Amino acid sequence: MTTDLLVVGAGIAGLACACAAADAGLRVTVLEAQAHAGGRAASWNDPTTGTRVDIGPHVVSTEHRNYLSLLRRLGTDGQLTWQRAPLITLLDARGTLRMPSRRWLPPLHGLPMLPGALSRLSLADALSHTRLAWAAARTDEQALRELDAEDALAWLRGHGVRPHAIDWFWRSAVLALLNVRLEQCSAAAAMRVFRLMLGRSGWHFGFPRTGLADLVVPGCTGAVLRSGGRLLHGARVRRLLAGPQGPQAVETADGHRLAATRIVLALPPQALAEVVGASDVPALQPLATRAGYFRPAPYLSTYLWFDRPIGSERFWARAWSPQGLNTDFYDLSHIRPALHGKPSLVACNAIGPQVREDWDDARIVEQSVEEVAQFAPATRQARVLHARVHRIAQAIPQPRPGSEQLRPPVATALPRLWIAGDWTDTAVPCSMESAARSGALAAEAVLAELGRPRRLAIDPPETRGLVALLRR
Ligand SMILES: Cc1cc2nc3c(=O)[nH]c(=O)nc-3n(C[C@H](O)[C@H](O)[C@H](O)COP(=O)(O)OP(=O)(O)OC[C@H]3O[C@@H](n4cnc5c(N)ncnc54)[C@H](O)[C@@H]3O)c2cc1C
Repeated sequence: MTTDLLVVGAGIAGLACACAAADAGLRVTVLEAQAHAGGRAASWNDPTTGTRVDIGPHVVSTEHRNYLSLLRRLGTDGQLTWQRAPLITLLDARGTLRMPSRRWLPPLHGLPMLPGALSRLSLADALSHTRLAWAAARTDEQALRELDAEDALAWLRGHGVRPHAIDWFWRSAVLALLNVRLEQCSAAAAMRVFRLMLGRSGWHFGFPRTGLADLVVPGCTGAVLRSGGRLLHGARVRRLLAGPQGPQAVETADGHRLAATRIVLALPPQALAEVVGASDVPALQPLATRAGYFRPAPYLSTYLWFDRPIGSERFWARAWSPQGLNTDFYDLSHIRPALHGKPSLVACNAIGPQVREDWDDARIVEQSVEEVAQFAPATRQARVLHARVHRIAQAIPQPRPGSEQLRPPVATALPRLWIAGDWTDTAVPCSMESAARSGALAAEAVLAELGRPRRLAIDPPETRGLVALLRR
């Protein structure tokens, strides 16, 4: 079977690319190593209860522009439960805080959050962000990349942010949003997030009302099949066969060769380093080396089936503490219509440095139940009917110092060979949004090479209001 485009990897990046190419009439072959598509946004039925569960709970934000555009294309954008207020419910050592989100002129939208923040921080702590806010307002995406060599802790201290503000706000925010410790985070990655918090208002979170993968996998697969293409599962690519003129084929782990002269490798960095590293094409070795720099941020996602409702909150987060395990919690009985009125099913994430590799499942479940109970005391009367711990080697590649400069573009050193994936240079943090944007960028590159240029990717969000005036 001939193919116009071979896409390796059926995560969001590969599927977004394949769907856009199929929409443009290309016959696309997608190769996926696993038995199911979805990658790090996969879903399956829990073997004991049959409940649809995700690899781990995910949130979408109103700033996931490319991801939401993909859902609109697939007709699944209505399958999200949006939470306009509060922006977030936070549990820390002093109790619960509900942070509002207002669509006010940036940065004035921060004012309604001040009373909550000032119940935890002194005025001096809050004001210690002045220099940082000034710098963030005046920078842009290109300029912030110059901070990449520095770590976020040194960057905050260098701007005079006080230690208590660092411990209370920054440690939690960087862990939750970028999945690393402050001292291991690129200052460029932290600055990117901070300038958008400062310069954009009204954004809020949404949650899948069904399996996360079900928002993307069936629709993209259908588009590929309808345009005469195919999606092959259990097809692990071992190496790329290529010459200086471009790719020729891929070889799978079981020795099959699939000829293709137009290939998108939509793989995580470690897999890309292997496939490209084994290709024996000297021009591609710098890309393999670059990909080899990225280190995984692991997750533990724990699902707890309770025998009764334990509260009314949909979603809450725990402030960082050295002893804490989980960061974010989701009661799916308040998110998924199919579970409404049923006992609570709580999913929670332990992120990166908080993951305790040496704990067995029983200990993780016990600690997770305790942390749920600290937020929702009714949990102490509830029984856990069933629990499941998902151990995930990589949620995203760590944005450590130096990594922002190394995120590679879609184009490679070879003609007709492109890459995609959340970790590529999309100018947004590694996420489903970055993956969707990279897939759109790769599809744009493919269509441009075919002489049919088309605009598919949506630009990353930019600062607004008074913050935008300062930037200009
Ligand atoms: C628990 C968890 C929570 C998360 N929370 C959020 C969140 O709240 N919001 C958010 O936006 N993002 C979140 N993320 C991150 C998000 O899921 C990822 O950024 C995104 O799914 C990455 O998509 P991708 O297509 O770039 O890569 P992947 O999903 O990794 O896709 C790559 C695909 O390639 C396949 N593959 C690998 N090697 C080969 C090979 N040799 N041959 C063939 N196929 C191969 C893999 O099996 C996989 O299907 C979370 C991730 C996890 C795991």
